[in-house]
Amino acid sequence: MTLRRWAAGAALLLSAGALANCSQIFGSGESGEGITTAMLVGADADSANWISHGRTYSEQRYSPLDAVNRDNVGQLGLAWSADMDTARGQEATPLVIDGRLYLTTAWSKVKAFDAATGAKLWEYDPEVPGETAVKACCDVVNRGLAAYGDKLFFGTLDGRLIALDRNTGKVAWETVTVDQSKSYTITGAPRVIDGKVIIGNGGAEFGVRGFVAAYDANDGKELWKFYTVPEGKQGPDAPAYLQKAAETWNMDVLRESDAIGGGGTVWDSMAYDPDLDLLYIGVGNGSPWNRAYRSPGKDGTGQGDNLYLSSIVAVRASTGEYVWHYQTTPGETWDFTATQHIMLADMEIGGRMRKVLMQAPKNGFFYVIDRETGKFISAKPYVTVNWATGIDPATGRPIENPETRVDKTGKPALVTPGALGGHNWHPMAFSPKEKLVYIPAFEAGMMYAPEANWKPDRNRGFNVGFNLGAGDLPPDGGFRKQVAGSLRGMLVAWDPVAQKARWTVEHPGPWNGGLLATGGGLVFQGTTGSEFNAYDAGTGKKLWSFAAQTGVVAPPVTYTVDGEQYVAVLAGWGGAYALSVDGDLIKRKAPVRNVSRLLVFKLGGKATLPAEPALAELPLDPPPSTASPEVIALGQAKYGRYCAVCHAPGAVGSTVLPDLRRSGALENAAAWSAVVHDGALKDSGMASFKGSLSKAEIEAIRAYVIKRANEDKALEAGKKIARR
Ligand code: CA
Repeated sequence: MTLRRWAAGAALLLSAGALANCSQIFGSGESGEGITTAMLVGADADSANWISHGRTYSEQRYSPLDAVNRDNVGQLGLAWSADMDTARGQEATPLVIDGRLYLTTAWSKVKAFDAATGAKLWEYDPEVPGETAVKACCDVVNRGLAAYGDKLFFGTLDGRLIALDRNTGKVAWETVTVDQSKSYTITGAPRVIDGKVIIGNGGAEFGVRGFVAAYDANDGKELWKFYTVPEGKQGPDAPAYLQKAAETWNMDVLRESDAIGGGGTVWDSMAYDPDLDLLYIGVGNGSPWNRAYRSPGKDGTGQGDNLYLSSIVAVRASTGEYVWHYQTTPGETWDFTATQHIMLADMEIGGRMRKVLMQAPKNGFFYVIDRETGKFISAKPYVTVNWATGIDPATGRPIENPETRVDKTGKPALVTPGALGGHNWHPMAFSPKEKLVYIPAFEAGMMYAPEANWKPDRNRGFNVGFNLGAGDLPPDGGFRKQVAGSLRGMLVAWDPVAQKARWTVEHPGPWNGGLLATGGGLVFQGTTGSEFNAYDAGTGKKLWSFAAQTGVVAPPVTYTVDGEQYVAVLAGWGGAYALSVDGDLIKRKAPVRNVSRLLVFKLGGKATLPAEPALAELPLDPPPSTASPEVIALGQAKYGRYCAVCHAPGAVGSTVLPDLRRSGALENAAAWSAVVHDGALKDSGMASFKGSLSKAEIEAIRAYVIKRANEDKALEAGKKIARR
């Protein structure tokens, strides 16, 4: 069905309630053909297309299409594929409009294809400077586009919001949305509400102050801006909700240091209820993570809830005004963002219909909240949780385990979920037929170690207030195997009314793909095991599998062209887990690498992929370790703060970026310094660290990596060596 025919039909179908908001639906400034507010509000009726990030404003990622179904999914085959031109994480949800498929890929590039044939229509590269990568906590990814009128909108890693002509890929306008002197990045997809393009940003590991803002779809002019945390120097004229927030912080810290912005970035999830005109935003972690540094009390421990960190906030979409909030993790200190997928649905709970909002944030509890009022309805753990024993139903507050709060000194604590969460950005899906929410969940605990004399660094590196260098795994094969065994990845089918899992599918490890549920009774998901699978939505039985040659983290979409149903997914391993956990350990669970490619399927599809590339690994052949223990210890501390997040803790080799133990520069101090100090590889994403690390510290890091490489070489040779 073409958009014009669909729009005519949908206008008749719109309820009287929706039509009461006519000015909103047929908002001013829309020219010619293209996506209208009415289409976005009524997107559920348009099964042929996928016109907004979560398919509908409710973000259910459920398509009623059923031509591909339980009975025939075994005949699903590759229709076409398209190679991406990078080997970094692929996290985007494609949009499909009238037979054309649009997507974003790594480094904020955009590509358009004929959705049936795969013919490339146009591509656009915003030319993000390579050294921007060092500002990004979690890979140079982008999660997608928004469409409105004849334009497409997306954010770039360096903080721009760009509008492209949908037919040509030419720039209509672009605007810088952030202070580019700070470590703000954009990886999330915008949403468009009544002609306003809404976008947030990331950077809460690097000292920024979070906000979300609305821009005019016609010209990019800023219309409103909503900050999520108070400003150190704010006065009595600050909005009431920020004055209320200030009462929950030690404002001295925010006032004193421009390197501590408080965090609370809105880097991914949004949902919208057009009847209530409420935009729901997911707010991220504190900056720094450790509350004892971010908001210290008199006794040196942390104080205060620190609103609106780790909260779901309802904002009036037309004005940007605060309406209500629900804080999932008061006084957050573990990087427990509430930026995870927000999904809206209406369901019967306790004998009456409720308009609810659902979220499985990082903290491990699945929440059902009343989306009209923000009142807590219920929450239960969807993964193993040790930081809290439950949520008090009277107050909606967690019942904390005090042993898991680590301040400036004292014992480290193994906390689960860890900083990656029990669920991260990977979208969930909801089947109204099965009344189940499908969660791409995982278990990966983290050791939080205190750092007694932490200071923020405005320039480079993780500003989290914990000792990230203390978490090295000992070079002991048995212990590492044990840790690998504790990692779990699973697809959980969650009954949100009963608050329990109906079934669970185990995967080879954490960090599996986002989800799609369909009217054909199917749930589609890619895995860390390099498969793209279809499961029975009612039972979890695996009905179909495709060898994707790469880990798949992005969520699939489905659409039709000339009545034929297609399923599309962007394959390509990457993101926070792929960069920042033990690469050796991941490879023990399931070998995985990045082959970035769009895969599109249909019944009877006969296309094939090129031959799978061999898993190449450079030899582990370091120079001898001759540095003093003091130099190595300095290198370990600096590595933990500045290198581990991209090259893995303990230099054990991330699965996407170079394994430093095997680096050619390891035996040559000058070559090492040319990269780390002088920025020789900045265009590839490896920025200079000269503002944060001295030449002696950079050389100490090399000594530490040499020592680690020798330990692991001995381990590989089967010669177990004692931990020093
Ligand atoms: Ca974070």
